[in-house]
Amino acid sequence: MKLATFRYKDQDLVGILSSCETKVYPLSTLGLHAMDMNDFIDQTAKDGSLLGSVAGKASKLDATEEAGLLLSDVQLLSPIPFPKQDIICLGINYAAHAVESARFAKDDFGGERTYPLYFSKRVNEAVAPKGVIHMDEKIMTALDYEVELAVVIGRDAKNVSPENAFDYILGYTILNDVTDRTVQTRHKQWYFGKSLDNFTPIGPYIVTEDCFERPPVLKIQTTVNDELRQNSTTADLIFGIPYVISELSAGMTLKAGTIIATGTPEGVGMGFQPPRFLSKGDKVVCTIEGIGDLENTIG
Ligand code: MG
Repeated sequence: MKLATFRYKDQDLVGILSSCETKVYPLSTLGLHAMDMNDFIDQTAKDGSLLGSVAGKASKLDATEEAGLLLSDVQLLSPIPFPKQDIICLGINYAAHAVESARFAKDDFGGERTYPLYFSKRVNEAVAPKGVIHMDEKIMTALDYEVELAVVIGRDAKNVSPENAFDYILGYTILNDVTDRTVQTRHKQWYFGKSLDNFTPIGPYIVTEDCFERPPVLKIQTTVNDELRQNSTTADLIFGIPYVISELSAGMTLKAGTIIATGTPEGVGMGFQPPRFLSKGDKVVCTIEGIGDLENTIG
């Protein structure tokens, strides 16, 4: 099941995609009400049977031709436009990306790591699918893309074992961990260079966990102006999703609605020699098998 946030007649609504993915059913047509996706996630966290009943109602509507809004008549927004907390991100979590990063800036990215590298990313408002990443050339001089599989936690997780980790996942989405490499590397910590306004496109949908294998093994790609730049598989994650949820939840409660970005594979702009950073007018499309395309332009 694909969960969406969308704008229709000046209202921002949450809905479920029809099985043929041409229409979206607003939650109200399923007898539900949620202020936004965060509210809906909280409701599913409290009522473990809610997602299943929503899926059942949506599949009944699939048989009714009049039900739902045409996707072409709505404007998709990021599924979680206003995350409740900073995004938890993994750095250097694909081996080949570790090599290209160290080649670009050895002091900042090189070295052996026994434990995952965690950092956070502030998101005042997630950029929508087809939205513009505004490039402020006064501060952004080395703008880069990073396609990532993002995990959305579905219920509060504390002391979760790796074996049970998938039971705490609502679903998956695509996150472009947009970064300015100059700002990232000139400060000791990465927070600022990862958190500038418009640096977090998320979407197009949250696809529920039941649609995937455990763990999900998915093709993950980025094109820039239709040229394939990143082309990998989530099978290559160094620290896998169960490990990460178990390790983090042993020390901190992962609240429902938490977003964890699992890291990016090789092929980012700083990995090329010379580096190939983004410019105004570029079209960046991040794609993950089974989730969709997250397309944005630099403006
Ligand atoms: Mg990243």
